[in-house]
Amino acid sequence: MSHILIVEDEAAIADTLVYALQAEGFATTWLTLGEAALALQAASPADLLILDVGLPDISGFEACRRLRRFSEVPVIFLTARDAEIDRVVGLEIGADDYVVKPFSPREVAARVRAILKRVAPRPAAPAAAPVTAQEQRGPFRLDAARVQIHYHGQPLALTRHEFRLLEALLGQPERVFSREQLLDACGVAREAGYERNVDSHIKSLRAKLRQVAADAEPIQTHRGLGYSLRLS
Ligand code: CA
Repeated sequence: MSHILIVEDEAAIADTLVYALQAEGFATTWLTLGEAALALQAASPADLLILDVGLPDISGFEACRRLRRFSEVPVIFLTARDAEIDRVVGLEIGADDYVVKPFSPREVAARVRAILKRVAPRPAAPAAAPVTAQEQRGPFRLDAARVQIHYHGQPLALTRHEFRLLEALLGQPERVFSREQLLDACGVAREAGYERNVDSHIKSLRAKLRQVAADAEPIQTHRGLGYSLRLS
C-alpha cells in the first residue's frame, strides 16, 4: 500500500483528499506545516507528497527545495493562484505535477496513481541504446550503475528526471528527440501537461551544465521538433 503525505493547512481541503485517496486504497498522513513534513519525510518517508504552496510556516516551494536535498520522492503541488503556477512550472523546484484549487479530489487521486506507476521500478534496459557503465561520450561520462553523470570531469547534481533525460540524449547524440520520445525515455506517461515539464527539466539541466561550462550549450533546441545533444 502506497503512503501519501498530505501537507495542507486547510482542513476542508485535506479532508477531501484524505477521503479520495483512502477510497483509492492509499494510506494517508495529514500535516499542516512544512517543517513537520520535512522532519517526517526524513524519519519515515512517504511514497508521494501532496504539498500546498501556501503553508503557514514555510512556503511549499521552500519545503520542496529542502526536501530535494535528501529525497527524490514525487511531489504534487496544490496551488491557489496563476502566479504560483508560473513559479511551479518555471522555477524547476523539482515537482512532478501540480493541481490548481479548486480541484476534484478524484482527479488528484488519479494523478497520484499515475505518478506512482511511472516512478515504479522500470523493466531493465532503455529501448534506445543501452549504455554500459562508465561510458565516456564527449565531455560526458555516464555511470549508469551509480546513476551519475560527470561533465568535463565534474559530477552533476541531477534530479531523477534530469538524469533520465540526459541519459536518453547521451544514448543517441545528434538525434532529435521529440518531447514525447523524451517522456518515454524517462518512463513518464504521456499525459496532458507533461510536455511542458520536459521543457522545464531541460531548462534546469541546461543551467546545471552552464555552471560547469558557461558557453558550451550541448543541448540543442529544434523548434517545433524537440531536443538533441551535441558532443563537440
Ligand atoms: Ca494553504
